[in-house]
Amino acid sequence: MSDKFSNKPYLLEVRHLKKYFPIRAGFFRRIVGQVRAVDDVSFAIREGETLGLVGESGCGKTTTARTILRAIDPTEGQILFRTAQNEVVDLAALSEKEIRPLRRDMQMIFQDPFASLNPRMNILDIVGEPLLVIEKMKDRKQRMERVAELLELVGLRPEYMQRFPHAFSGGQRQRIVIARALALNPRLVVADEPVSALDVSVQAQVLNLMKDLQEKLGLTYLFVAHDLSVVKHFCDRINVMYVGKIVESGPTDAIFFHPRHPYTSALMSAAPIANPRIRAKIVPLEGDVPSPANPPSGCYFHPRCPYAEEKCAKETPQLEEIAPDHLVRCHYAHELTLQGVAKPQEIIAS
Ligand code: SF4
Repeated sequence: MSDKFSNKPYLLEVRHLKKYFPIRAGFFRRIVGQVRAVDDVSFAIREGETLGLVGESGCGKTTTARTILRAIDPTEGQILFRTAQNEVVDLAALSEKEIRPLRRDMQMIFQDPFASLNPRMNILDIVGEPLLVIEKMKDRKQRMERVAELLELVGLRPEYMQRFPHAFSGGQRQRIVIARALALNPRLVVADEPVSALDVSVQAQVLNLMKDLQEKLGLTYLFVAHDLSVVKHFCDRINVMYVGKIVESGPTDAIFFHPRHPYTSALMSAAPIANPRIRAKIVPLEGDVPSPANPPSGCYFHPRCPYAEEKCAKETPQLEEIAPDHLVRCHYAHELTLQGVAKPQEIIAS
């Protein structure tokens, strides 16, 4: 845990979270199997921190994020959330009615700003919708004032509020999505690939805006992404997921420069690096991600792992702390010396 956050309380603690989707077949639609989209995931985020959730498509990162916000119901586990009144509640145990007042504290930013804005509504109605529906702010003038404030906060001109989404570029639309997410002063923002649908030139602007807003408003982010170069600059800590499980978790620098799980090492080495003075030895990642409906025995990564031994196919490794705040799910985490991304000073020294 970086010193910056070690004295902050946890805002969110996820314990043994599972989300299984039943597979039905036959005339009577009997359950014949389970898709283990999220399989015993535990982690915590402190107030003001940014935690990245990374992995290949289908690893369960988006399902984890949606389950935490109770957009879908968990199969098992606890989602402990510290409310504004400093009470810890288990979101997994609450009914939809009980969870409604807490919704203002937790908001989501979606990947596609084109799909997440209703083309028939103007910006005033889009950004003002949560104010009207949840805050019950019926007075239109009051809503306009708050929307103007929010648009300014995200770097848009208040007079844009009468326009419709088609009049805006991708980056501007994502700013509108962010303004709507901030309308109710949330404390936790779950950002699901918030810049992956944007042009590269605009991505940095939106990420910088999110960072500024975090400092200004004291936001806590759960940042879901597959683009590791984005995660590296944005997150304080990273959880790497593979087939519904966390395989490595630690501070961003440790994950990038000293990965201890072979899957993390392969992912990090494949990430594009903008700085020519930094390099990574490419570790090839062969084969496909296994299906969470029928995962391999033992370590789920063993069919693709260049270091797999007999034990790996038989025994399931547990997530173990191998250094302070650095956890790894691998039988040989202590023995393996893996390639991470080399820092410039290490290249000069080598
Ligand atoms: Fe590879 Fe075995 Fe470690 Fe799994 S447990 S990552 S197969 S070495």
